Amino acid sequence: MPTFLDFRSDTVTRPTPAMRKAMFEAEVGDDVFGDDPTIRHLEERVAELLGKERALFVPSGTMANQIAVNCHTSPGDELYCHSGAHVLNFEGGAMAMLSGVSAATIENSHGSFSAADVEPILRPNDHHYAPSRLIWVENSANRSGGTIFPQESVNSLRELADRKGLAMHLDGARIWNVAIATGKSEKELAAPFDSISVCLSKGLGCPVGSLVAGSAGFIDKAHRARKRFGGGMRQAGFLAAAGLYALENHRARLADDHRRAKRIALAVAEMKAFRIDLEKIETNIVLFDAAPMQGSEAVAKLREQGLLATSFGSKVRMVCHLDVDDAAVDKAIGILQKTFK
Ligand SMILES: *Cc1c(COP(=O)(O)O)cnc(C)c1O
Repeated sequence: MPTFLDFRSDTVTRPTPAMRKAMFEAEVGDDVFGDDPTIRHLEERVAELLGKERALFVPSGTMANQIAVNCHTSPGDELYCHSGAHVLNFEGGAMAMLSGVSAATIENSHGSFSAADVEPILRPNDHHYAPSRLIWVENSANRSGGTIFPQESVNSLRELADRKGLAMHLDGARIWNVAIATGKSEKELAAPFDSISVCLSKGLGCPVGSLVAGSAGFIDKAHRARKRFGGGMRQAGFLAAAGLYALENHRARLADDHRRAKRIALAVAEMKAFRIDLEKIETNIVLFDAAPMQGSEAVAKLREQGLLATSFGSKVRMVCHLDVDDAAVDKAIGILQKTFK
C-alpha cells in the first residue's frame, strides 16, 4: 500500500534490495535432512547471540512459542503469564489445543510482574489442582506498548522458579529492541531463562522467520514438536539468509525506530484528544488513549488522511519500523495534528 503511511505494525516491512540479494545468493539444501547450510549458520549465530546451546529455525513466532509450551509441559499443566501475553491472546488458543495447557494470569498495565505476583497464585501440590509448570515472560511486552520487563523482576522469578521446580520461557519476539533500548546484550537478557523465542520478521525486517533457543536437550524435543506442528521446511535457507543479513545490518538501526516513536509520543502528549504515558514509550511502539472516543473511530479518521494505525478498546497503537523514515514520521505527526486539533 504505497500511498499509505503504514504504522500498523513492524511486521509490514518488505525486504530491502540488499536483503533480497542475500536471499537470492543463499546456498540451500533440504533442512528436514539437516542439509541446509544457511539455516545451520543462522541457528548457530542466534544460539551464540542468545547464549544458549542450540537454536531451531521455525516459520513464525507463534510456532516458536507453541513449541516452547509443548516442550516444557504435559497436558493439564498450568503456566503463569501476563493477562495481555501474546501466547494467551493472539495465538488462536493454541496452547489449549496443541498442548492441553491452561494459564493463570497477572494483570496490570505495564506487562511485567515479579515473584511476589506469581508465588501467591502457584498451586499447592495437591490432586485438586493443575500442576504449576512454567513461568512465561514477554519482553518487550507487545500489548502493553512495547514496555521493557525489568531484569530485577526476571531475576526474582528465576529464584522462585528454582525454588518451586518451574521452567521459565522468554517470548523475546522483540528482544532485539530491548537490547538496543537498555544496552544489555541479548545474551544477558536471555540468561535467566530455560528457553527463548525470537522473531526476525518484526523490527529486523525479514519476510518470514523465528527461532526458539535453549539447551541441546530442549532443542532435541523442539525438533520433534516442530515436525508435529508442520514446521519442517525444505530449502528455507533463502529465508535464513534474510535473517543473517538482518542480524548483521538491521539491529543497530532499531535505535532510529525508538527515537521516532518518542517523537510521535511527544507530539501526541501535546494533543488534547489523547492521553499518553511518556515514560512507558520505551521502544518502537506508541500506545495512547483516545477515550471517550473508541480507538477504532480515531483509526478510521486517520485512515481517511492516509495514516494507518491499529486500535483496541479506546487505545490507538502506532509502531515504528524499517519502512518509515523521519519524513514519514513528520507527515504522520502532521496528520495527527490536523485530524484531532
Ligand atoms: C508477533 C509476536 C509473536 C508471534 O509472531 P508471529 O510470527 O506473528 O506468529 C509472538 N509474541 C509476540 C510478543 C509478538 O509480538
